[in-house]
Amino acid sequence: MTRWGTPVMHRPQAKVTVFDEALRALAADMVATMYAADGVGLAACQIGEDLAMFVFDCPDASGTRTVGVVCNPVLTLPEGRDRVLDEDQEGCLSFPGAFVECARPDHAAVDGVGLDGEPVHFEGDGLLARCLQHETDHTVGTVFGDRIPTKARKKLQKQHDKAAADYPAGWPA
Ligand code: ZN
Repeated sequence: MTRWGTPVMHRPQAKVTVFDEALRALAADMVATMYAADGVGLAACQIGEDLAMFVFDCPDASGTRTVGVVCNPVLTLPEGRDRVLDEDQEGCLSFPGAFVECARPDHAAVDGVGLDGEPVHFEGDGLLARCLQHETDHTVGTVFGDRIPTKARKKLQKQHDKAAADYPAGWPA
């Protein structure tokens, strides 16, 4: 698992332009890594690939799971009076063992293309809304540590340091 601090995680990644067997193999590898790490989403940069894509398998507020792959994601968030912030805890597989509150809109929609290059659209609330935002952020080089106040970031770092022994360099094996 590629960690925060690695350059590919902090810059926008290349758009996906070739929809071939190699891309499908990458997506399969990402899904396997996500499940091995008990995550609900994983972006390509998190396994060191400079490509704007992510995979997810995540429940919404009602518990309904959505599974998908999105290349070149574009996020749409509610605006004005429709914009309601959800203060739930958030974590990242690239900064494992740590969770803090991160305010995000409680609904999100993502448009992009799938592994065949055809348009895909996903949207939802609850953890799914958070996941779609978190993973799209990864594709533009933003990690959720960039979105929280300094105090919360320090708390996050402390938890992460404390849990370091549980997440050795080769995690997840
Ligand atoms: Zn993450």
